[in-house]
Amino acid sequence: MSVEIGGRLYSWTQPQCERCWAERNGGEYGPWNAPVRVRDHAAERCAFCGYPTWAGIFVRVDPRNVEWPTSEPAPELDTENAP
Ligand SMILES: [Zn+2]
Repeated sequence: MSVEIGGRLYSWTQPQCERCWAERNGGEYGPWNAPVRVRDHAAERCAFCGYPTWAGIFVRVDPRNVEWPTSEPAPELDTENAP
């Protein structure tokens, strides 16, 4: 599911850094309350604070409600999955 903003598509799955995750989940970030994460993920920009993160945490959020949403590449630019 995506939302179009200014001609670009934005996913409802947005990267989030550990700090912002902790801020929004009432406490410190740690293994005892770790969110679902993707291991060894490439750097992403946190959708909430704009800083780079390697946490591999992705949250479901309306991209219109965050400061730094990550846009999805346009389908015609998706060369990786091209036939
Ligand atoms: Zn953040």
